[in-house]
Amino acid sequence: MKAKPVALVTGANQGIGLQIAKELAAHGFTVLVGSRTFEKGQAAAASLGQDAHAVQLDVTDQASITAAAERVRSEFGRLDVLVNNAGISQTGRQPGMRVEEYAQSTLASNVSLDEVRAVFETNVFGVLAVYQGMLPLLREAPAARIVNVSSGAGSLTMNSNPDFPYRSGFRPLYHASKTALNAMTLAMAIELEATGIKVNAASPGPTKTSLNNYEGTETVEEGAREVVRLALLGPDGPTGTFSHATLGQLPW
Ligand code: NAP
Repeated sequence: MKAKPVALVTGANQGIGLQIAKELAAHGFTVLVGSRTFEKGQAAAASLGQDAHAVQLDVTDQASITAAAERVRSEFGRLDVLVNNAGISQTGRQPGMRVEEYAQSTLASNVSLDEVRAVFETNVFGVLAVYQGMLPLLREAPAARIVNVSSGAGSLTMNSNPDFPYRSGFRPLYHASKTALNAMTLAMAIELEATGIKVNAASPGPTKTSLNNYEGTETVEEGAREVVRLALLGPDGPTGTFSHATLGQLPW
């Protein structure tokens, strides 16, 4: 086993994922930049320096996940941190469609089931599939950490509060996918409770990235902060939590 710990970040070719990869490299990790398009991952890895390497990884493609796990084992020999960051917000907003118009077309009563399936495929089933693919390697590491990049938008507790200002935006698409991701996080944490592996969910907050047409208010540095903190937790750190950098623990 190589001395340097290894971290894999999915969807790390841009946005919050790229920032997470950059910070983990600065903390001494060999960073594997997961990217569904290998060339984009290569360009991102090159921007991070010699301790970053591109790994082709489409979280919706089982063959890609299996090949990535085999490559991590054969080339790097260990995996200490897995950050499930890859995510999409929608697949159905047509170019030029106003936000309000799109919001009206994604209510529970009229949302496209194909679009719900596509978003869940990446944000929920993709995370579970990558977890299953990488867990054998993580179990061999001395103190592995898994961080799932969720969103406060998925909090059932916050969205069921009539005073919560954003609750009218709660939809069966992105929001519900993050609720389901929180459930997966808890299931993983409970499964691994007796091991030293900690599994937590982080909410980046509204961050300026392509996911929201750069309409977020936070920088990628702010968005990555809680994810990186959870990836670096020591032995006394928690497992099975959901948190934000400045708001602290979030209700599920
Ligand atoms: P982003 O810039 O759009 O990045 C998303 C990344 O996920 C991209 O690298 C994208 O790859 C990748 N991806 C999408 N589908 C994939 C797949 N099937 N396999 C592998 N990679 C895939 O958006 P971001 O804001 O940084 O999003 C990162 C995470 O933060 C997401 O989970 C998102 O839900 C979460 N989040 C974001 C915000 C926010 O305000 N931005 C708030 C809360 C949570 P391509 O470049 O190939 O598309």
